[in-house]
Amino acid sequence: MYYGMPVGALSSKIAAGQGKPAQNDKILTTCTYCGTGCTLELNIKNEKIVGVTSNRDAEWSPVNKGALCVKGRFGWDFVNSPERLTTPLIKENGEFRPASWDEALDLAAKKLNAIKEKYGPDSLATFASARVSNEENYLAQKFARAALGTNNIDHCARLCHSVSVAGIGAAFGSGAMTNSIEDLAQDAACTFVIGTNTTENHPVIGYKIRQNVVKNGAKLIVADPRRVELAEIADVHMQFRPGTDVALLNGMMNVIISEGLLDQEFIEKRTEGFAELKEILEKYTPEYSAGITGVPAEDIRQAARIYAEAEAAAICYSMGLTQHSTGTDNVKSVCNLAMITGNVGRPGTGINALRGQNNVQGACDMGALPVVFTAYQKVIDDAAREKFEKAWGRPLSGTNGLTVTQTIHAAYDGVIKGMFVFGENPMVSDPDIQHVEDALDKLDFLLVQDIFLTETAMKADIVLPGVCFAEKDGTFTSTERRVQRIRKAVSAPGEARDDWWIISQLASRMGYPMSYDSAEEIFEEMRALTPSYAGMTYARLEGPGLTWPCPTEDHPGTPILHKEQFTRGLGLFHALDFKEPVELPDEEYPFILSTGRSLYHYHTGSMTRRSSGLNSHMPENRLQINSRTAAELGINGNEHVRLSTRRGSIILQAEITDILKDKVLFTYFHFAEAAANRLTDSHALDPVAGIPEFKVCAANLEKI
Ligand code: SF4
Repeated sequence: MYYGMPVGALSSKIAAGQGKPAQNDKILTTCTYCGTGCTLELNIKNEKIVGVTSNRDAEWSPVNKGALCVKGRFGWDFVNSPERLTTPLIKENGEFRPASWDEALDLAAKKLNAIKEKYGPDSLATFASARVSNEENYLAQKFARAALGTNNIDHCARLCHSVSVAGIGAAFGSGAMTNSIEDLAQDAACTFVIGTNTTENHPVIGYKIRQNVVKNGAKLIVADPRRVELAEIADVHMQFRPGTDVALLNGMMNVIISEGLLDQEFIEKRTEGFAELKEILEKYTPEYSAGITGVPAEDIRQAARIYAEAEAAAICYSMGLTQHSTGTDNVKSVCNLAMITGNVGRPGTGINALRGQNNVQGACDMGALPVVFTAYQKVIDDAAREKFEKAWGRPLSGTNGLTVTQTIHAAYDGVIKGMFVFGENPMVSDPDIQHVEDALDKLDFLLVQDIFLTETAMKADIVLPGVCFAEKDGTFTSTERRVQRIRKAVSAPGEARDDWWIISQLASRMGYPMSYDSAEEIFEEMRALTPSYAGMTYARLEGPGLTWPCPTEDHPGTPILHKEQFTRGLGLFHALDFKEPVELPDEEYPFILSTGRSLYHYHTGSMTRRSSGLNSHMPENRLQINSRTAAELGINGNEHVRLSTRRGSIILQAEITDILKDKVLFTYFHFAEAAANRLTDSHALDPVAGIPEFKVCAANLEKI
């Protein structure tokens, strides 16, 4: 299969570097990279991973049926990296020294308790992780709430899909992908892809969308400021100005209403709030929307007709839609579009929010969020809180906690005094890294638990070595809400220990006893408190997994949500006016800068940049520049340029390409040494969900 990357060249490089195994044990598990949830086989020889193969049996490979992208197939060698953390580390006089588990855990517990006693529990905060398992996220939020005594727990879903939880939740009542990946492969007569470079960021889903177009003749609409790969086969590509999503979507809905293409019966029977939406849409004629977005009015008309006239039309989006100061509005707007055409609750339809990391859906489901326990049970709800208090044997706080971005600001302001960062790397992932660094420097105590000495771990007082996906049992929940097993294939290096063991030890030493013998025991405790996971057991998850909600042990799971009615009863339309991004280009900073992901790297690069094959294909950061911009500045290609915003500057390699328009720039956020997030703005936030506006800030570019 083809995902736009030279797999053959990469294959021979890795084969030459590692040697092919003569005979392998094969352990079936779930990919540790994107949220697609592909299954793969880790090939083991002499207790080491020596390769990855795949299983074509749909029973064991329900999502990818044997297909893997370049990261899943070749991105495994970080597991064997000599840079893995193998012992606890304690910082003394600015230098780390190895320590025993007893010494490191006792000291960490003592430091956290001292801050709690002196400043109160809300002076502490925990970052959980979209990379680690459901069981580990469940324990992390239990640790924050029961042991630390605060709801200050969040994770990097805040930075990618917090607005999906808020926006789809407000419109439909349940903030998750409504349909299945298989729907996109065969049931969607039309797929509308907005703000997702699917073939690079969710390659197996991108492949399925492509196959549906090429083999089944499905229609494809792409809306993206860049001419991404799927645009090449689209019926319409709307190359809109970054940050004008609501204006574009309102323009499409104006056409649908004025041409009578709406689903009146669906609107009347299953929704509320249409009159207010209709009123606001009146001014968004295609010409008016064209003036804001830069998309020709005729393209808006054509896209609206194709989407509305399809028998079943699916919307897919990702961070291109969400990472805006209007992210929640953008998500509500795609929900409006789906509802006015009746494209919800049937095969091949729905709002398909493609989640970026392997277990970002699961981390949210497990309550690693500041306002909810597992399954989105609100911490301010007395009945929900009493249930968890009874189960956990502790009084719990009923005050909503701080988000990731609020936590960093609070640390900077001296309100947060101590942090436990588990599997996250805010020194690369969060906006305005200088601000993050200044905030972390002000903490009295920083504890980091990870598998590498990440940029954030380097700032810690104590570092605890955990295990990676190949070294543990557990579950991940994919973007389509499918809960699947991960299985231990190899032992952890050195003295690295199971993350659930570390958290349990830490809690116990703080005076809140936690004791577990296995990940399965934690899963059992979790499902008893989590209605949407209640019917799942490890035995039931052995095959293709189960999609939530799965309330009882005889329930088959729910691939399509909102079939007969929405989770909230009636679907709610939101009347939304277009708002400009927070920071627009001006004379000093005349370009729009967007940031995003590459096919070859994953999140903050801590794993993929230690994967030799992947890293060799993209060893340094690049800046995509339109050829006209490049010519004006005398940039000839492949040379290094200085990119600046009001937050800072980085130097990176130019890539001249006309996939984006003049005056728009695009760079990647995986590279600590040329970190895109040195440039992004930590104050330009969505007011509802707090997501930063990673997709639009004003920038300047210089030849050097
Ligand atoms: Fe892994 Fe995603 Fe690639 Fe599948 S598409 S192999 S889950 S990175």
